[in-house]
Amino acid sequence: ENVRCNARLAIFAGVRYALIYGDDDSTNQRVEATRRDFAANVSHELKTPLGAISLMAEAMLESRDDPEAVDHFGRRVLKEATRMGSLVNELIGLSRLQEGRIPDFSSVDVDSLVDDALSSAGVSAEVAEISLVADDPIGVQVRGDRTLLLTALSNLLINAINHSSADDVVSMSRKTVVMNDENMVCIAVTDRGIGIAPADQGRVFERFFRVDKARSRATGGTGLGLAIAKHVAASHGGHIGLWSRPGTGSTFSLYIPIDPSDSDTGSENTEEQ
Ligand code: ADP
Repeated sequence: ENVRCNARLAIFAGVRYALIYGDDDSTNQRVEATRRDFAANVSHELKTPLGAISLMAEAMLESRDDPEAVDHFGRRVLKEATRMGSLVNELIGLSRLQEGRIPDFSSVDVDSLVDDALSSAGVSAEVAEISLVADDPIGVQVRGDRTLLLTALSNLLINAINHSSADDVVSMSRKTVVMNDENMVCIAVTDRGIGIAPADQGRVFERFFRVDKARSRATGGTGLGLAIAKHVAASHGGHIGLWSRPGTGSTFSLYIPIDPSDSDTGSENTEEQ
């Protein structure tokens, strides 16, 4: 759980992004409704661990003569408090991402980004007995915020691991593609896990949406990982694609524009889309 949190917490050192709303009435109403739902979700998500913490603190006080019980409840209080901390940090990060500060991008090497994402998920994969594999380097740079891109990829990898079974393989691949006349890099994370039903595929990027709440809680999920990844992609002028079939697995693909100053765009790998 801590590994997952750390991967996401690493994220938010200085996050900047503009969320552009339309200004017609129906858009305003929709935005307002989304905001209300979001506020209700936030209070629910914070109240749940807070309630558990209060109950366990009471139990600790009642069993203060029993060191084993104190130890048991103490650990659970710590676990819930850590969960709350990571949720609050993710919320702050997400709201900064939506706030609209101007990004100061630099040139980011795709191959080292993929390597770092794989390392950040290494322990989680080991614990879950899942093999992480990756394809060959492509030697391409994108313009972006490295920390944010790493967060997005780590979130996709951790999700892939959490929805696979022991001995499964999670793979990362990278290639250059041309979309709407723009050179992009596509970094894909593929699992052979439980997959996502078509009706849920559009919703998984919503804040706090989970197909299976119990599973998400058990793996330390906050329901924000994909919302964050989606906003990171948008803030780079890119997007995230999803292909999934229940029982077969899922592929999440992060598309980011190539750094225009990178003259060698790995053209032999380029695919028209
Ligand atoms: P969480 O913290 O619950 O993982 P996310 O925003 O990262 O939140 O994901 C939202 C939901 O999407 C998850 O709870 C899960 O139901 C579903 N999901 C995400 N990634 C996968 C995947 N690789 N395979 C199956 N389901 C997934």
